[in-house]
Amino acid sequence: MKKIPVCEPNLGSLERKYLIETFDSGWISSISPHVKEFEDAFCRFIGSKHAISTTSGTTALHLAVAALDIGEGDEVIIPTFTMVATCNAILYQRAKPVLVDADPETWCMDVEQLKEKITPKTKAIIPVHIYGHACDMKPIMDLAEDHDLYVIEDCAEAIGTEYKRQQVGTIGTCGTFSFYANKTITCGEGGIMITDGTYLAGKARILMNHGFTPGTHFLHHYIGFNFRMTALQAAIGLAQLERVYDFIEIKRRNAALYSSLLKDIHGITLPVEKEWCKNSYWMYGILVNEEEFGMNRDELQKYLEERGIETRIFFRCMHNQPIYKRMGLFKDETYPVAERLERDGLYLPSSTKLTPDEIKYICECIKEAVF
Ligand SMILES: *Cc1c(COP(=O)(O)O)cnc(C)c1O
Repeated sequence: MKKIPVCEPNLGSLERKYLIETFDSGWISSISPHVKEFEDAFCRFIGSKHAISTTSGTTALHLAVAALDIGEGDEVIIPTFTMVATCNAILYQRAKPVLVDADPETWCMDVEQLKEKITPKTKAIIPVHIYGHACDMKPIMDLAEDHDLYVIEDCAEAIGTEYKRQQVGTIGTCGTFSFYANKTITCGEGGIMITDGTYLAGKARILMNHGFTPGTHFLHHYIGFNFRMTALQAAIGLAQLERVYDFIEIKRRNAALYSSLLKDIHGITLPVEKEWCKNSYWMYGILVNEEEFGMNRDELQKYLEERGIETRIFFRCMHNQPIYKRMGLFKDETYPVAERLERDGLYLPSSTKLTPDEIKYICECIKEAVF
């Protein structure tokens, strides 16, 4: 039996064509026109003024933190329920991550708790649009305005997600995206930072290229990085961008089919789509309530694995990471909602290549699991 992967990239003849054209041109580094073309195309897709491509979603986040001059003595508020790169980007710049719990419905940061975590040292908030659902951005932006804070939207999982009909990433001070192989569009590896701020974009562009000063050679006013994307990545990205609307539609259609087939199963919580959000369903995640469902998350994962269905457990909370504990961070902090997500969450196969028959099979297996 063919295994159903949790996620696989959707690459076709267009990606191959652009990749070979770029290869044949000989311009494979970051100074190729293809990189600028990709950035311009991404700006048009997302509706932002500037885009700075990078080597990954992580370096895009790191670049945003650095370009906003966030460093030692500054605090940055993030959800504890996120991928580790969000937290590391703050630590790379020697700033201090401060955590908030998750919202039980959207699994994104709890905005009520956010208020309580703001101190005079707070410099920024990084809302993470988890698994394709948007954070409730209005109250976050209001708080940011009241307290003069930057907002960096971590949109790695939310390409095409909309908040009140606006693309996520364009609401905060800046936004960052990832093009890792399992993300909604991919370059193999890659990332991008977007902003409407001309000064911020200019500074980010300098920092991502060794801190070279435009117009002069080998003169440095900053400790820069090399976060440059190659033209080979940009070529694949350009092809993926031409297909991005299809990918989002397929992900939404797959999610609708999953939800219709799973909705009556006792003890399974489905992902939501709040009325103010267009969920791009990067990953279709469910929560397994052991008492009500009759099997716990790990048992269900094993049961599905034995039937050729690959799944993935949810993130492990930042406050429970051994490395951060060793650093003395997040001592004695608890976040009950995020801990429940960590314990009960499982995401199901979510590729754009998934077929309706495969989804039906997966849902049948889940239904049968407890009989
Ligand atoms: C994938 C991801 C990242 C990191 O992206 P990479 O391209 O793997 O570096 C950052 N934040 C979140 C929320 C992610 O899901």
